[in-house]
Amino acid sequence: MMVDKKKQLEELKKDLESKAGIIPLLNTAEDVIFGEGSPDATIFFIGEAGGYWESKLRRPFVGNAGKLLDDLILSISIKREDVYISNVIKARPPENRDPLPEEVEAFKTYLDRELEIIRPKVIVTLGRFAMSKFLPMAKISLDHGKGRIIEYNGSRIILVPMFHPAAALRGSEVEQMLRNDFKNLPEVIKKLSVKETISQPITVKEEEQLTLI
Ligand code: URA
Repeated sequence: MMVDKKKQLEELKKDLESKAGIIPLLNTAEDVIFGEGSPDATIFFIGEAGGYWESKLRRPFVGNAGKLLDDLILSISIKREDVYISNVIKARPPENRDPLPEEVEAFKTYLDRELEIIRPKVIVTLGRFAMSKFLPMAKISLDHGKGRIIEYNGSRIILVPMFHPAAALRGSEVEQMLRNDFKNLPEVIKKLSVKETISQPITVKEEEQLTLI
């Protein structure tokens, strides 16, 4: 039987909405800012948490950082609707403050389930919160734009950490590096794809890094 990924994602969203009042930052079901995009996406972008516009429109990356992300995605001839975009925290922290460890923990299952349903070939993390989910020891200033094959929950996935678009909006040097990392992304994916057959169930430990380009 074909797995209906779209339906699974809708059910997951409903499940999260039903946790209003239980999960931190979710006072009502309307506070949920769930991931969106193609259930068959090859590339899965992970940001930090929603901001003002995301909480108004209840969609990820629709404010200024989102406009830059749209532009970056287009710059490598990919359509936004063909990728999947989500956040570590599926709500807006007050005053856009950094997420607390217990908040990251509370939403973890939902991001993990999204990854499990979509089974992307590539994960691009935007900013340090998303990066540290997979690479707790990495430094964004050193590791941005470098692709690795990681093993996460039984799948081999190409992981490419990048700066957060909001950081790029605050400084032109970061913007330049982010634009450059996007420009190189297709090549990084191509090189790592040749090295490994990805998204196949394996038994090695989570977060073990295999290859670095
Ligand atoms: N910043 C994020 O990390 N996520 C969004 O959805 C918007 C801005």
